Amino acid sequence: MAAPVRVAVSGATGRMGRSVTRLAGRTSGIELAGGVAGRAGVDRGGEADHEELVALPDAGALLEAADVVIDFSAPSFLRSLLETHGGVLRGTPLVVGTTGLGAAEQRLLEEHSAHAPLLVAANFSVAVTVLLDLVERAARALPDYEVEIVEAHHRRKEDAPSGTALALGEAIAAARGTALAATRRDGRSGRTGARRAGEIGFHALRGGEVVGEHQVMLLGDADRLELVHRAADRSLFAAGALQAARWLVAREPGRYSMRQVVGLA
Ligand code: NAD
Repeated sequence: MAAPVRVAVSGATGRMGRSVTRLAGRTSGIELAGGVAGRAGVDRGGEADHEELVALPDAGALLEAADVVIDFSAPSFLRSLLETHGGVLRGTPLVVGTTGLGAAEQRLLEEHSAHAPLLVAANFSVAVTVLLDLVERAARALPDYEVEIVEAHHRRKEDAPSGTALALGEAIAAARGTALAATRRDGRSGRTGARRAGEIGFHALRGGEVVGEHQVMLLGDADRLELVHRAADRSLFAAGALQAARWLVAREPGRYSMRQVVGLA
C-alpha cells in the first residue's frame, strides 16, 4: 500500500483550516502532519482539533515533514509563510485557497512554482469547477449576451467581489478574447449612465452564515440564461482541497488548476 500523503494546514485555526483538518483526519491516504497558525491562533488554544499546532515563526520542522501544504489563511499570512519558510518549502507541493491575493503574493507563488507543483483555486468545489467550464462555453456561444455576476457570502468575509466571482469573470473575459481588468464593473450606484458594451458586472451581498453562492446571468434581448451554484457546507471546499493535494504530490513543478484535477482540462 502506498504511504499516506502527509498534509500540513496553513491557517489552521480558521473556519476553512479547521474544516480541512477535520476531514484530513477521516480521509484514507491522508495523514495530518499538523497545522500552522498565527501567534494569536495558537494562544487562543483548544480552538483547533490538531495533533500538532505551531505558530508561523516556529513552523519550519512541521513544514519540512509535510508532503504537501494546504493554505486557507489570509494574503498577509500566506506572504509571511512563503517569506519566512521559503527555503524549507522549496520543492514542497502547495495548494492555496486563500483569496484576495495581491501582487506580492502572486510573485512569491510564481517563484514557488518554479521548484514545486502549485495549485491556486478561488474555489475547490468540483461543481464550481464544472460551473467555470459551463460559463466559459455559454459566454462563447452567446457572445452578445450581457453578463452580470451576483455572489453572496457570510458577514465576516473580508474581500469583495469573491475570488470565485472574479474567476468566473476571468473565464468569461478569456472566452470572449478580452481582459477582465478592461471589462470589470463593480456594483452600480447613482447616475451610472447606460450599460457599456462588453461590461462584466459584479455584485456582492454579505450577511448571515451564507457559505457561498454564485449566480452568473447572461442577459439577451428576449431571454436570459442563469447558472447558479450554492454551497451548503464548507467541508465541500475542504474535500476538493484534499483531492487537489493528493493529485498534486505526483506532479512536476509548475502551476496547475482544479480543472486539471477533475479532468476537464
Ligand atoms: P478565517 O478568518 O476563519 O481563518 C483564517 C486563518 O488564517 C486564521 O484562523 C489564522 O490561522 C490565519 N490568519 C490569517 N491572517 C492572520 C494574521 N494576520 N495573523 C495570524 N493568523 C492569521 O478565514 P476562512 O473563512 O477560513 O477563510 C480563509 C481564506 O480562504 C479566505 O481568503 C477565504 O476567502 C478563502 N476561502 C477559499 C475557499 C476556496 O475554496 N478556495 C473556500 C472558502 C474560503
